[in-house]
Amino acid sequence: MTLEATDLRKTYPTGDEALKGVSLSIEGSETVAMIGPSGAGKSTFVRCINRLTEPTSGSLRLDGTELTALDADELRAARRDIGMIFQEYNLVERLTVMENVLTGRLGYVSAWRAFRRDFPPEDVERAYGILDRVGLGDMEDKRVDELSGGQRQRVGIARAVIQQPKILLVDEPTSSLDPETSNTVMDLLTDIAAEREIPVLINIHEVDLALDHADRVVGLHDGELVFEGTPAELDEGA
Ligand code: ADP
Ligand code: ADP
Repeated sequence: MTLEATDLRKTYPTGDEALKGVSLSIEGSETVAMIGPSGAGKSTFVRCINRLTEPTSGSLRLDGTELTALDADELRAARRDIGMIFQEYNLVERLTVMENVLTGRLGYVSAWRAFRRDFPPEDVERAYGILDRVGLGDMEDKRVDELSGGQRQRVGIARAVIQQPKILLVDEPTSSLDPETSNTVMDLLTDIAAEREIPVLINIHEVDLALDHADRVVGLHDGELVFEGTPAELDEGA
């Protein structure tokens, strides 16, 4: 799996130039941390990939598919290949862990419908496997609003992974977590990248976490890539 951004630009209607020509390629099972101060353009970059926002110009290819030129049906299909994990979890608070994970497999509407019937057994089986993998094996019937922040983030990871994405995009996964929980969540993300052989792009503002966990770190500042390298290379440069 490869994600390739070429000269990606985004100017909002307000005139804010959030991305000023970003080129970046991410492949295989690599974990890339994108760091940079608030306002650097990190969220805009992620939102361009899943097309929550429309890039102004440039190219974005996921395994050769040009993401900037999809019609509505193609976009729906492409989004199934892009796993998103959000800062604020985006979980359905009143549903259980299992139900939340299954919404990743089925999509919101069918999940709500299926909620009152039976879920497809093969999906449930897969969900159990993934819940085990993220360390929530015995929590499937807990309501999400009973969980800690770290547990919620694991539900978010499980929900993204169950759709068998070709890439995982993770927006500030640790910003509401304590340092120890942050480390375990970052470990989990890099392990999943390796096991599933998919690239993981993590927006993060904690530089230490990026250097400790990512295979490669890219720095964004004011809409431009200002550095790129392995943690070891960046350490030498510092
Ligand atoms: P980061 O994620 O690094 O904090 P953002 O991508 O959120 O950066 O923002 C980059 C720049 O784009 C900032 O100047 C921000 O104010 C601006 N911006 C972000 N979203 C919008 C929007 N929807 N409309 C206008 N400007 C925006
Ligand atoms: P983050 O720092 O996590 O990117 P922001 O606070 O920049 O979050 O953005 C939160 C929301 O506000 C986003 O949906 C973004 O599109 C919107 N936003 C950010 N900056 C602006 C702006 N200057 N004008 C309009 N909307 C904005």
